[in-house]
Amino acid sequence: MDCLSRSTQFGENRYLDTRGTITEPLPFTQVVLEGLASGGGLFVPCEIPHFSLDEVLALAEMPYAKRAAFVYRAFNIDLPDVVIDEVMGASYADNFDTEEICPLHPLDEKTHVLELWHGPTSAFKDMALQCLPHVFSKSAQALREQGKLHTDFMILVATSGDTGKAALAGFQGVEGVRIGVLFPDGGVSDIQRKQMVTQGGDNVYVWAVRGNFDDCQTGVKFAFDDPVFADHLAKNYDIALSSANSINWGRLMPQIVYYLSAYATLVSRGGVAAGDPIDICVPTGNFGNILAAWYAKQMGAPIERLICASNVNRVLTDFIETGTYDISDRPFILTPAPSMDILVSSNMERQLFELCGRSASLVKSWMEDLKTQRKFVVDDKTRESLQSNYVAASVNNEECLATIREVLSTYGYLVDSHTAIACKAGFDNRGTNPLVIVSTAHWAKFGPSVYRAVHHLAYEEELPAEAAALSGCELNNLVAQETGQSFIPRNLADLDNLPVRFTEVIDGDASTIERAVETFIRQTS
Ligand SMILES: *Cc1c(COP(=O)(O)O)cnc(C)c1O
Repeated sequence: MDCLSRSTQFGENRYLDTRGTITEPLPFTQVVLEGLASGGGLFVPCEIPHFSLDEVLALAEMPYAKRAAFVYRAFNIDLPDVVIDEVMGASYADNFDTEEICPLHPLDEKTHVLELWHGPTSAFKDMALQCLPHVFSKSAQALREQGKLHTDFMILVATSGDTGKAALAGFQGVEGVRIGVLFPDGGVSDIQRKQMVTQGGDNVYVWAVRGNFDDCQTGVKFAFDDPVFADHLAKNYDIALSSANSINWGRLMPQIVYYLSAYATLVSRGGVAAGDPIDICVPTGNFGNILAAWYAKQMGAPIERLICASNVNRVLTDFIETGTYDISDRPFILTPAPSMDILVSSNMERQLFELCGRSASLVKSWMEDLKTQRKFVVDDKTRESLQSNYVAASVNNEECLATIREVLSTYGYLVDSHTAIACKAGFDNRGTNPLVIVSTAHWAKFGPSVYRAVHHLAYEEELPAEAAALSGCELNNLVAQETGQSFIPRNLADLDNLPVRFTEVIDGDASTIERAVETFIRQTS
């Protein structure tokens, strides 16, 4: 299929991979189910649609589900319009605590916070993971009807906190799919653990794994790469393993929607004149969220500067500044913003593909260098392109906690530690355009950090005994009282009262994980 000619037929906008391994571009449905291309590359659409300014602004007139459907239709995916409407109607409804889904909160005339945490798990991953499971299930159904698919799915997720709960909440009750989440025992916060082990639904399971997140992830990876296990599950249970991690194009696409949507909303409120540019600052880890903003810009959202905010794990800051991505001698540092603690930022691969003239051979050589030398250097042209597309900033732990205090005292608005990093990076790099700061979690998801901030404690300092004795929920109540907050999302506030469903602790080796997964599948077959 010729990828360069404009797709006009139903579902004809197909997908390439960033390392040039697949020979025939694939349809959207297949890309969603496969997640990662064979050969390790990431899927990107042949064609990026473009909206006129009027089309972007028209989004403001629609409810959020319709905005999402409008954007998906523009990508010309191989699911019928009625199915897209149905999927979006189910994805963005009263599962969010506000009809706006992701409201813009004004700090002052030129600064707005895009709140992406009104979904069921209070972190921005809901924006994608409330949608992807429906798209996944409809894609599977479509391929089954075409006789191209004969299995159900078992999604396996290793999580350091936020993704696991968001994936559980998204896939709960989705037909033809089971989901199992593995988290490091003792390695997640009280709130995060309770969010996962109290998850409802017959098609879900949660295991605590002895060891740290790396052990957890390595065990899951081995299980994924074990052809004997895959064969066994297919033969005995008609089940294929799949993942829901952030390199799946089906997770990136829902994120493009809220950037186009936020621009339209901002214009409709008089926050920016129609067509005038805005700047956006995103707290970044795996580069998924900010890459979605970049795609929204290509699609016609008047975005001028994209500020990539990192914590002290500043591999992205250094990369954007120097063109060298180097993790050969880089420590992994624990911070108050754990969802941004990252060394390999996987979605950068997509960005490099787009910026180097879509050269799969260049991308492939960089990714090989990263694997063998833990480092790669991009050519001057790609580096310059990266630098003209992004402003990069790194914020340390002390600045992060100080910013939580400052934003509270200046604007009466309480932010979590990830959002605080975006605030600091955004304030420091502010230009003349209106600034949109992306908020990725409700503060109560990271209560201990907020407590430390308002009590002038350093990140490394132990909580005082009276605070350390409290559950995550009780600590949040205390912080709410002290800071004058009246609202903690129900799903976080009620956690202490929900029954614990999952208590199993297992070893992190592949065979133990495989046995546990099979037991769950057998019990639900
Ligand atoms: C996942 C996450 C991030 C990082 O997002 P990326 O898309 O990986 O860059 C930032 N903040 C929070 C709260 C998250 O859960």
